[in-house]
Amino acid sequence: MSAACIFCKIIKGDIPSFKIFESDKTFAFLDIGPLSKGHSLIIPKHHGAKLHDIPDDQLAEVLSVTKRIAVAQGLENYNILQNNGRIAHQVVDHVHFHLIPKPNETEGLGVGWPTK
Ligand code: IMP
Repeated sequence: MSAACIFCKIIKGDIPSFKIFESDKTFAFLDIGPLSKGHSLIIPKHHGAKLHDIPDDQLAEVLSVTKRIAVAQGLENYNILQNNGRIAHQVVDHVHFHLIPKPNETEGLGVGWPTK
């Protein structure tokens, strides 16, 4: 946990979120600025800024949970996005996987993605 990290604060419940899933290793919640309806973020509870900072077992569960949420949402078309570093459009320095439904041509990531 990092005291200054907003996603760590969400995990602790100090910042409110619309929680989708929680286990001992993983937390998932709706993105506050969705690119499409149901845009969610799936994060390891282990605090680390970039993918290579996260233990393999935590990453494995994050991907499994991402799949389960996609299935639960009945998604047929969707993007999974995971940004590392400012130049790569990362804003929050706690690893997170975006699960972005793509219900039609206009919602979700655009043609020139990533847009964030
Ligand atoms: P990044 O550009 O991959 O770092 O994406 C960060 C994401 O976190 C953005 O899509 C934001 O909308 C989202 N976000 C930032 N703060 C919050 C919050 O407090 N609750 C939910 N989502 C957030």
